[in-house]
Amino acid sequence: MNASSPTNKSGDHGIVLLRSEELLNWSRESSLWPLTFGLACCAIEMMGSMASSYDLERFGIFPRPSPRQSDIMIISGTVTYKMADRIRRLYEQMAEPRYVISMGSCSNCGGPYWQHGYHVVKGVDKIIPVDVYVPGCPPRPEALIDGFLKLQEKIRQEKPLTGTALTGENPERL
Ligand code: SF4
Repeated sequence: MNASSPTNKSGDHGIVLLRSEELLNWSRESSLWPLTFGLACCAIEMMGSMASSYDLERFGIFPRPSPRQSDIMIISGTVTYKMADRIRRLYEQMAEPRYVISMGSCSNCGGPYWQHGYHVVKGVDKIIPVDVYVPGCPPRPEALIDGFLKLQEKIRQEKPLTGTALTGENPERL
């Protein structure tokens, strides 16, 4: 295959050919900025995964202190009814397109409080749409990193120019 072949994407002059949607998806998946936000014990593992030993910045994952600068929210901990409104408000303040990772059993389904925890929402997807669920109590940092990689895979499948976004509305929200 020579360099001028249409199937060869990398020519002799450093030119790369790709579709606009691939470029958009690549830039989005390579600059996921999570909101610095934790709810309970899972948040400790989330903080651990942001530390130097796991080095999330090599994936372009860089925590931000404001929802206005963030495009991903990690729900790490028990979602109480008292916090539900705040979570929803923070989600709505985030830039679009925005994504959500539900980290841990509490956030996924109520965790150890699923039966008798009258104060706990049985899954954060009743409040906001979730893109990736990470199981565990608590999930280790490696599991959260795997969740990020799964999210990147999903973003790669998006069609931003034809309007098929990843996140959807959940009709069963509170
Ligand atoms: S899933 Fe387990 S570790 Fe995570 S917030 Fe709930 S009780 Fe804590």
